[in-house]
Amino acid sequence: MTPRIYIAYTGGTFGMKPTPSGFVPDRGLAQALQARLPAPGQDGMPHWELHEYAQLIDSAEAQPRDWHTIATDIAARYDAYDGFVVIHGTDTMAYTASALSFALVGLRKPVIVTGAQIPLAMPRSDAPGNLAGALLIAGQHPLPEVGLYFGGQLLRGNRATKVSAADFDAFASPNHPPLGRVGIDVEIDRRRVLPMPAQEAFQVVAPQTREVAMLRLYPGLTVALLERVLAPGVAGLVLQSYGAGNGPVGLPGFVDTLAAASARGVVIVNVSQCARGRVDPALYATGSALAAAGVVGGLDMTVEAALTKLHHLLSLGLGAEEARHRLQQPCCGELTSP
Ligand code: ASP
Repeated sequence: MTPRIYIAYTGGTFGMKPTPSGFVPDRGLAQALQARLPAPGQDGMPHWELHEYAQLIDSAEAQPRDWHTIATDIAARYDAYDGFVVIHGTDTMAYTASALSFALVGLRKPVIVTGAQIPLAMPRSDAPGNLAGALLIAGQHPLPEVGLYFGGQLLRGNRATKVSAADFDAFASPNHPPLGRVGIDVEIDRRRVLPMPAQEAFQVVAPQTREVAMLRLYPGLTVALLERVLAPGVAGLVLQSYGAGNGPVGLPGFVDTLAAASARGVVIVNVSQCARGRVDPALYATGSALAAAGVVGGLDMTVEAALTKLHHLLSLGLGAEEARHRLQQPCCGELTSP
């Protein structure tokens, strides 16, 4: 039987049209695609049904509620389809793919997020190739993961990050090898794919309303600014530290401000500004002082995974201690345990 795939069209360059003020998302994508994709059953193409979201967005506009809308949509249609494809803008695609992986934990069917660098309606568009690849993967490979397919590479969604605004292969997965490639054939490396869970354990929870902040350390950062970032009302902070997890711990007030926020229940996770490698708070004194201030090491998570995981854990209503503990435990392949 030809598999059935549900496509959620959320916006992004993929379906955009030019206007005097620049590209904007356009409607009517299903008809445009019918002319560009092989017919279902031909060349491994599954049956697909495309649902165009009421509000199509440039993904630069995406908010946590948009991740929730997509997760809710997939969960509601989960039994009716063999796999799912999400057409999304590239700018925040890695955030959405990460957020979906935490909400749809225990997934037993593929969810493949894709998009394009050049709109479908333009010459040399990468949209048809990216979507065809995503559909072939979702239809033919019972992958129990949220994947991100782009430019011939299938990456784990919560390991992916956008690395290029200029190339067709716009994404990389610096701390986990690609799950597969689409060339003449679709090649999936089974050893790199998550094991099939015994059953789904979705946690599609409404996004919490308190703020989660992100701060990249830089020479010149003042304690006054750090205090403003950690102002009351902020529930969590992703701290992008240097190298293996280091920060300016000799700056008077820096560690104390972090420690005071941790003591108030703010959950602070330390991830590296480096794309590759992991936070190892025990390696340098500048890292261990952060750990002593209650800052949790985010190991080798991407900033996208750390931010969306923190959002997810806080949305579950967990206390600060439990959230800190779970941040360091693998949930769905987003980090490598030491
Ligand atoms: N700004 C666009 C978006 O993220 C870029 C893209 O889709 O490539 O929606």
